[in-house]
Amino acid sequence: TIAACGPPPSPAAALPYQDPSLPVADRVADLLGRMSLDDKIGQMTQAERAAIMPTDLTRYRVGSVLSGGGSAPASNTASGWADMYDDFQRGAMAAPLQIPMIYGIDAVHGDNNVYGATIFPHNIGLGATRDPDLVRRIGRATAEEVTGAGQDWTFAPCLCVARNDRWGRTYESFGEVPELPTAMTTVIDGLQGDTLGGPASVLATAKHYVGDGGTTGGIDQGDTRLSEAELRAIHLPPFAEAVRRGVGSVMISFSSWNGDKLHGNRYLITDLLKGELGFSGFTVSDWAGIDQIDGQRGFTQAEVATAINAGLDMIMVPNDWPAFLDRLRAAVQSGQIPMTRIDDANRRILTKKFQLGLFEHPYADRSYATTIGSAAHRDLARQAVRESQVLLKNAGDVLPLAPSGGKIFVAGKSADNVGNQSGGWTLSWQGASGDTVPGSTILDGIRDAVAGRATVTYQRDGTGIDGSYRAAIAVVGETPYAEGDGDRPGGLGLDSADLATLQRLHASGVPLVVVLVSGRPLDIAAQWGDWDALVASWLPGSEGAGVADVLFGAYAPTGKLPMTWMRSAGQQPINDGDGKDALFRYGFGLTYPGGDPDPDPSPSPSQTPDPSGSCRVAWSTNDWDSGFTAAVAVTNTGSVALNPWTLRWTFTAGQQVTQAWSASVTQSSTAVTATGESWNASLAPGATASFGFNATHTGSNPRPTAFVLNGSACVVS
Ligand code: BGC
Repeated sequence: TIAACGPPPSPAAALPYQDPSLPVADRVADLLGRMSLDDKIGQMTQAERAAIMPTDLTRYRVGSVLSGGGSAPASNTASGWADMYDDFQRGAMAAPLQIPMIYGIDAVHGDNNVYGATIFPHNIGLGATRDPDLVRRIGRATAEEVTGAGQDWTFAPCLCVARNDRWGRTYESFGEVPELPTAMTTVIDGLQGDTLGGPASVLATAKHYVGDGGTTGGIDQGDTRLSEAELRAIHLPPFAEAVRRGVGSVMISFSSWNGDKLHGNRYLITDLLKGELGFSGFTVSDWAGIDQIDGQRGFTQAEVATAINAGLDMIMVPNDWPAFLDRLRAAVQSGQIPMTRIDDANRRILTKKFQLGLFEHPYADRSYATTIGSAAHRDLARQAVRESQVLLKNAGDVLPLAPSGGKIFVAGKSADNVGNQSGGWTLSWQGASGDTVPGSTILDGIRDAVAGRATVTYQRDGTGIDGSYRAAIAVVGETPYAEGDGDRPGGLGLDSADLATLQRLHASGVPLVVVLVSGRPLDIAAQWGDWDALVASWLPGSEGAGVADVLFGAYAPTGKLPMTWMRSAGQQPINDGDGKDALFRYGFGLTYPGGDPDPDPSPSPSQTPDPSGSCRVAWSTNDWDSGFTAAVAVTNTGSVALNPWTLRWTFTAGQQVTQAWSASVTQSSTAVTATGESWNASLAPGATASFGFNATHTGSNPRPTAFVLNGSACVVS
């Protein structure tokens, strides 16, 4: 059999496509001319590793294998993965034309399928860092670890713009505004390296094209209902930037656009992505995504033809690849798919295989195995964790905690749980709680931070706390999930065990620091008033020590919210600029007194006030006919000068304010928002700015329901 006998020797007299000195386009053309229809349809097929044998690659010419949802070889080590890769590659190289296969994995926050790999924060936390160069370096580290385990292609980054926190993939998004995922496409540079085929170069995948984060209700694989202008404005920009950076592949979204499945959308895939944006790599379907085109289970020959004709180049089948080969072949032979389309798909796939150097170096490069979970990569991950923490509240400057003196009480289900820290897509598709991967828990980090200088007591559920402690740290939030399993159409609050833990700690009267480990903002409006400090930790991954670095002041927080933080779940979707009254606005993030946060390169650079009680508004109005005159005086009662500053106010719908002068008015079905005076000047602490405006309205004299100054709700007097 093939598996045991090592790489076959290269033929002495190379054919033109095997000659690395020829231009890639010439090699592709030469190879294409030698391929049969079966060779070509095989290249367009991607099967799951557990559903295919290496000998099937020889016989059926299947050109790609994947590990779906973390599906790992029996020995989940770097060499176990590399051995598996080589087994499949030997199968591919035993076919007459010796076309190497390419192997796809979901390395979405580090090489997360491999035991012992460095687990970086999920994208939502990286969005909070506002540090595209850090994200590029994470891409590089990930590429080294992926290479070390023998793989050459990752289904990352997710460039979704998550618009509704109910969505189970919110944490795979760098942020809710297009600018943030666009800025973080630097990860592609890191993954692919300076040139495809250079040292530790891993093919990247921009996914899921397009609009996956915009579905109604935040339903995974749902329907994104937007005009084309909105789709282009909100969801397309990160993909355009990824194409500009030379991303090698693009995965098509399971979701629909105005009722039509993306997998069959020729306009978006062929005309827009490949035509207008000029994407020259190859597209890949999502897991059995072609099954969904007609809404029936399984896939038909017609669905195969629809998908390929729409512009899909490789199909992730993943299990029933023999039937796929048959239906694709039949669709070509019957003329349903033109041969030019098959050749185009092959040209795109083969070009990437040539550029990656797979024809010259088809087998695993084990020299990078030592980088897996290396100290250097863990240091980088720890730095990413530090930068991703967002300080949302710090009453009485309870943080940073002094590392010396007294007793500290630690509680909460995620305090000592590296599995919870890592979330989904960690060793398995859904992830799991517990000691799943090597690394440090947040509790480990706290113990290290105070070692020999303060006493740490840990009791998961918070029992046993009394007034003798100087601080309590509660680490609560979500347990791991992935994709639709994480959709939360109901509440977005903390679970009852977390609430009970927090209640015990609060009742003790000890200053309470809450660390939220979660894949998204949670509905905490009813509780957060009880807490002295609040840190959004997101899903920090294997280096929990980075959280302790922030709590004890080794690093003053610089993170900024990548998502608007709701006041209640019923506000979903809530996003920057939509005028809804957020608990914490997009871009919000505090630092410590005397801290020197990095300059904020985010698209929302306003300085941020304290989240509560930071402004006061006096409002009076004179009604006339169908209009009114209003006088507004806003006072900055916070401790930070605001520059620039914007005051927004909201009327409930039905009170139709139709026009205003020296204020702009936008209408939605639920609210009328007026963006009032916006000054590029400083509003100092204690200072008041006064202005007036006239507006027309229908119905009775409207009164505003809320005023928001730079994202912070004001007290109205
Ligand atoms: C997900 C993709 C992923 C693929 C392969 C799908 O269910 O939507 O993001 O790349 O599985 O694991």
